[in-house]
Amino acid sequence: MAKIFSGVQPTSIPTLGNYLGAMRNFVTLQDGNECIYCIVDEHAITVPQDPKEIQKNIHNLAALYLAMGIDPKRSILFIQSEVPCHAQLGWIMQCVSYMGELERMTQFKDKSKGKQSVSAGLLTYPPLMAADILLYQTELVPVGADQKQHLELTRDLAERFNKKYGQVFTVPEPYIPPVGARIMSLAEPTKKMSKSDTNRKATIFTLDSEKEILKKIKSATTDDEASIRYDREAKPGVSNLLDIFSLCSGRSVDELVTAYQNKGYGEFKTDVAESVINVLSPIQERYHNLIESDELDEILDEGAEKAYAMAKKTLSESEQALGIGRRN
Ligand code: ATP
Ligand code: MG
Repeated sequence: MAKIFSGVQPTSIPTLGNYLGAMRNFVTLQDGNECIYCIVDEHAITVPQDPKEIQKNIHNLAALYLAMGIDPKRSILFIQSEVPCHAQLGWIMQCVSYMGELERMTQFKDKSKGKQSVSAGLLTYPPLMAADILLYQTELVPVGADQKQHLELTRDLAERFNKKYGQVFTVPEPYIPPVGARIMSLAEPTKKMSKSDTNRKATIFTLDSEKEILKKIKSATTDDEASIRYDREAKPGVSNLLDIFSLCSGRSVDELVTAYQNKGYGEFKTDVAESVINVLSPIQERYHNLIESDELDEILDEGAEKAYAMAKKTLSESEQALGIGRRN
């Protein structure tokens, strides 16, 4: 049995990429493990957010977690800002981090590219993420491939702290799935699909209607070759659709390539869309029932309480090791 922690930002509605790369694994990992899942709203405000919009996104994300199969009887589900230990250990982790290593993070570089000014929080996002994980003595962190670098930094920070101040933190391992860890944008298939992409056509949101899903997949960028084969370099658009199709249908990429050998992109895209709709519609149905119920608040209250008890213990141990505050 492993201790698992992961989080999703309420920056918008989770995408198909978030689901296939991360959230789907959150659900399966519940079997035989102790899982803690978080709505990381403090991470979301590292870039500007509309207060009304983020409030709505937090509730939607909570309902989607449950609709996707997170079982509150087995797993803890809570909101990051409701457990103050995250910000507190986040500060400590900032003091253990070096500016140079934070400036090298690709997420920081990507999200600050072309911006006149960015928040200091965007730079110190990874130490807060390290705090999220380390507070729970986490062993395994299911994430998409884009978070690998942050996970490596988390491990470095934990090791650095333990070496300097004494053993406090478990050093976590990433859990990155072999397929689906990097679902690409439908519009620009050389960059990853993202919740906060301003081009809405680039992204399938898990609450998109059947019509929207079909439309977006039909207009996905492919190539002029008119042959369906897997080649991430030469055919990034078709390869991305093959990955999505395979993950949503349970059929292997090889099997799909053979089945669509003599078929056109039009028919292929319609069938990809159908497989996506088959995966998302039962989630959407459960979501619509949950979003109306009071159950959601009860689950989040209980989750925050349980998470706090665990997090407080690690935070106190780290403060003690550092010698800050008063000790008897
Ligand atoms: P944002 O653009 O606001 O950063 P995001 O789509 O990157 O949104 P996050 O909340 O940052 O979503 O990430 C949640 C989880 O989803 C993380 O584990 C991340 O690695 C994973 N993930 C994000 N994008 C993809 C993707 N395109 N393919 C697979 N996994 C992904
Ligand atoms: Mg992200």
